[in-house]
Amino acid sequence: MEKSERDKKNQPKSANITATVSKVILAERERRNKHRGCVLWLSGLSAAGKSTIANELEAALFKRGHQVFVLDGDRFRHGLCRDLGFSPDDRQENIRRVGEVAKLFADAGFICITAFISPYRADRSLVRDMVADGKFFEVFVNAPLAVCEARDPKGLYAKARAHKIKNFTGVSAPYQPPLNPEIELRTDKLAVDEAVEKVLRRLKKTAVIKGR
Ligand code: ADP
Repeated sequence: MEKSERDKKNQPKSANITATVSKVILAERERRNKHRGCVLWLSGLSAAGKSTIANELEAALFKRGHQVFVLDGDRFRHGLCRDLGFSPDDRQENIRRVGEVAKLFADAGFICITAFISPYRADRSLVRDMVADGKFFEVFVNAPLAVCEARDPKGLYAKARAHKIKNFTGVSAPYQPPLNPEIELRTDKLAVDEAVEKVLRRLKKTAVIKGR
């Protein structure tokens, strides 16, 4: 979808909505936090390691005294997105809602880490466009399908191969790998702590957090 078409579609239904102006601006929040707000958007196959890395990264950033929060599939699928399934349209709406929430967290000065398969490039690019320039980091959590399938911590690949789950990414639904991710984590080669270190280095290099 073209950006102009998307912008039109993203307008609120009612014409009687005006934004109110907050008295606390983002720069003040970021000054107090001593780091910038951003979205770390983890994408990859099921069992690639998104949740594991998201949680370790959250713990590492929290320990440094940062405002950080993880948004993951279960939190949404049981709440805000419980009306949605796994068809392409529902997946798109799921990611749009997650993107809007992640953007709010970044606007509140948080480092917001999301852990969603988010298999479609167009959906990820829609979220990228929502978030301010330089505040969206697409993190490709990348392990070959065979490795993910061998890990299968929740037994989902086995179920998908036995046709007990429909539209399962990598088996019966597509995964479109990021073409130009800000960060790529090969979890078949990097240990969890090495992956976390790699993200922290990138956040320091781009001055989201302090340090070298
Ligand atoms: P996802 O959120 O992508 O579905 P999970 O984090 O739930 O993936 O599961 C990944 C599984 O792979 C976990 O059981 C984790 O312990 C294991 N694992 C093994 N090596 C790694 C690694 N280097 N990085 C991340 N996870 C790994």
